[in-house]
Amino acid sequence: MYNAKAYSAASATSPLASTTIPRRDTTEHDVQIEILFCGICHSDLHTVRNEWSSIMPTTYPCVPGHEIVGRVTSVGSAVTGFKPGDLAGVGCLVDSDHTCPSCQANVEQFCHNATFTYNSPDKHLGGVTYGGYSESVVVDERFVLRVPANLDLAGVAPLLCAGITTYSPMRRWGNIKGKKVGVVGLGGLGHMGVKFARAFEAHVVVFTTSPGKKEDALRLGAHKVIISSNAEEMQKHAGTFNFILDTIAAEHDINAYINMLGRDGNITLLGAPEKPLAVSAFALLFGRRSLSGSLIGGLKETQEMLDFCGKNNITSDVEVIPIQKVNEAYERLVKSDVKYRFSIDMATLKTE
Ligand code: NAP
Ligand code: ZN
Repeated sequence: MYNAKAYSAASATSPLASTTIPRRDTTEHDVQIEILFCGICHSDLHTVRNEWSSIMPTTYPCVPGHEIVGRVTSVGSAVTGFKPGDLAGVGCLVDSDHTCPSCQANVEQFCHNATFTYNSPDKHLGGVTYGGYSESVVVDERFVLRVPANLDLAGVAPLLCAGITTYSPMRRWGNIKGKKVGVVGLGGLGHMGVKFARAFEAHVVVFTTSPGKKEDALRLGAHKVIISSNAEEMQKHAGTFNFILDTIAAEHDINAYINMLGRDGNITLLGAPEKPLAVSAFALLFGRRSLSGSLIGGLKETQEMLDFCGKNNITSDVEVIPIQKVNEAYERLVKSDVKYRFSIDMATLKTE
């Protein structure tokens, strides 16, 4: 075991602050990674503030961060896929049981024994796992991703959660080429959803509450932007969508978006608001529309997504910040004021 510098929250109401945490020594299947960048996902904020207390209560101290990119510093004796100096990525998962039907189907995120990157029981050290707001991490080789060498690393980090979370449901839904696809909320997930939908040659429409994001949405690849408070514009598009991704992080009227779907259309919920959403049965019955959810993606699909991004030069649009600005970044995240993901330059932790 060794000590690593990190940022942690001591309670649901404390700011994140500098600390040291234990990390395990590299065992035979492990890869030790020096973290270069870590994205700030809205799930980090939900967890730090214990907003999901009824489903996944937070254990403190909490070190968030599951959009990790870095460089391998050492590997265990049985590791075959990585060597010191290689680029590496880690997302929301660091372990699973490898034997259950979900693991065998390459959807480890649904394994009942999955270990999440933070706030999950830590099998090695006891307590809970600590995430990527840290100088290093030690992860089983099977949960470490290969990072394409041609991409900007600060913009790669968010692919490990925001990227796979939007890529996976779009792939699962089928071929969206030529389909009318909506992305609700232009934040971290939403802006990646726009990039992927455009890369898959869909007709992409962004729904936003922020008129100031319109130009950016078009630049990111949207064909059209609808300001959701504009009732007339919403009405004009009602019943015309094939598929919608809802990435809103807070309470909202989901029926307004279900009503955008045409017959047999699907809306997939990605956002995880604290409180349950009220769904109108009639909005689903008429038109045989469906509502589903999706959770990140398995390791195989995450690698496929990273390779796709490498080939198509896709990264997240990031605001790179020093770790010392993390609390300010959280305040801006709550106000939907980020273009379009914060990526922490972890070198700034060295001065703590
Ligand atoms: P984010 O960057 O904060 O983006 C969320 C966007 O939702 C905002 O930028 C805003 O877009 C819109 N929004 C926020 N509050 C709203 C409100 N009250 N009414 C309407 N729109 C609102 O967050 P994120 O990191 O993309 O995460 C989004 C959600 O997905 C979070 O709940 C997060 O926990 C969840 N998540 C789920 C998964 C999964 O596997 N399913 C993975 C990662 C994250 P506009 O300004 O354009 O309106
Ligand atoms: Zn996330």
